Amino acid sequence: QASPLGRVMVANNLPRLDAASEYVKERGGTKALLNLVVVGHVDAGKSTLMGHLLFRLGQVSAKQMHKYEQESKKLGKQSFMYAWVLDETGEERARGITMDVAQSQFETESKSITLLDAPGHRDFIPNMIFGAAQADVALLVVDATTGEFETGFESGGQTREHALLVRSLGVSQLGVVVNKLDMVGWSRDRFNEISARLGAFLRQAGYKEQDVFYVPVSGLSGENLTISSEPKLTEWYSGPTLLQAIDKFRPPERALNRPVRFVISDIFKSVVGSSGCCLAGRLESGMIQTTDKLLVMPLNEVIQIKNIAINDNSTGSCFAGDQVVLTVSGADLSDVSLGSVLCDPSQPIKVTSRIQARVVIFNVDIPITKGYPVVIHYQSLSEAATITKLIAQIHKSTGEVIRKRPRCLTKQTSGLVEIEISRPICMELYKDYRELGRFMIRASGTTIAAGLVTSIM
Ligand code: GDP
Repeated sequence: QASPLGRVMVANNLPRLDAASEYVKERGGTKALLNLVVVGHVDAGKSTLMGHLLFRLGQVSAKQMHKYEQESKKLGKQSFMYAWVLDETGEERARGITMDVAQSQFETESKSITLLDAPGHRDFIPNMIFGAAQADVALLVVDATTGEFETGFESGGQTREHALLVRSLGVSQLGVVVNKLDMVGWSRDRFNEISARLGAFLRQAGYKEQDVFYVPVSGLSGENLTISSEPKLTEWYSGPTLLQAIDKFRPPERALNRPVRFVISDIFKSVVGSSGCCLAGRLESGMIQTTDKLLVMPLNEVIQIKNIAINDNSTGSCFAGDQVVLTVSGADLSDVSLGSVLCDPSQPIKVTSRIQARVVIFNVDIPITKGYPVVIHYQSLSEAATITKLIAQIHKSTGEVIRKRPRCLTKQTSGLVEIEISRPICMELYKDYRELGRFMIRASGTTIAAGLVTSIM
């Protein structure tokens, strides 16, 4: 017999199931999930592009689109009608900029895409980061108009900055959308010039050539989003449409055959039956089946899974990447707190209050120095913490050490630091579990940096 901590299916002498093949059996043929962030200089046409794409894919009804058209006409801003699909509040509409990260879904042939729209305005960089920190892949939109590409690309423009930030947050696949090609008569030379200049920069920034693609489009006219019909473009371009190019992104692998990590984001009483308690959250890795016994960390107690529900439907098992509600029994759940993690009892998650992290500093006014008090936002937790050591300033994308033991880390730099958290929490290394190894750093109400856990002490 297995130890009381062993999974019940082991204790019952059932053969241990291979999560990857179980997944294929149950979910084979379902579309892979992909989080996409759209970045680029302000006015490059990000909102128009994605709004138009969503409309073409039937995510916005003709009736709704007509309403946006009428409203935008009334304000004399008809060129923004597609951008309105993504801009949620009236204030944003009146100002013609996107402030929040609006979320939308759409499907390609083989993938289900969650779109994290990012604003291009300088003031709102933290929102863009928020989107980028959740992204698997990114689209970088550039304006092909004469002089405009140059403005975005040269110093002060956000094209380079965004490409670097996205890369430093772990995104390695990038689609460059060469937009507004209608403004330059669908010029092949202009497309090639922009692709070449960006290509040289992106290679330097740590993107592999085979992980970057370039697509010519007009977000406003809709050319080459889902079909291409403009003779001046089809004359020289026969590559994929934007939708086809997005479809070719490699999806992140589900960490199926890894130890279970289930991060608890909500706790509530079970409505069916008097005993038991429900834990909502995301399964980051492994597979869970009903009757499994798992360890709650940092509590260090065993619970048993009674029921698994995805979107209110009971199911016998769930897999890495799923959002689920688990009904459990066992431990005194009044002791379980948000941010606790259910794990494979034989390989529990690390619990720590001291980490080393690679941090990307945003556009902050006050440089970060030793002893700087901050708040760590990690999963559903926010914890007081202190930056206790500045180990090095490092290159934004390659990670090479630029200076050891710097006195401070200024805006838009990257560094290696030591952080002391006010109490022990569950954490993993970024290289082992991407989602469990990254966090945001806030101070006086604004997000000042993003961090990736490089070492747990
Ligand atoms: P964002 O700041 O990057 O989200 O840019 P918007 O989508 O708000 O677009 C900025 C301006 O560029 C708006 O006036 C759009 O109508 C215009 N625009 C966007 N895409 C195109 C395009 O493909 N061609 C032309 N001619 N104008 C465009």
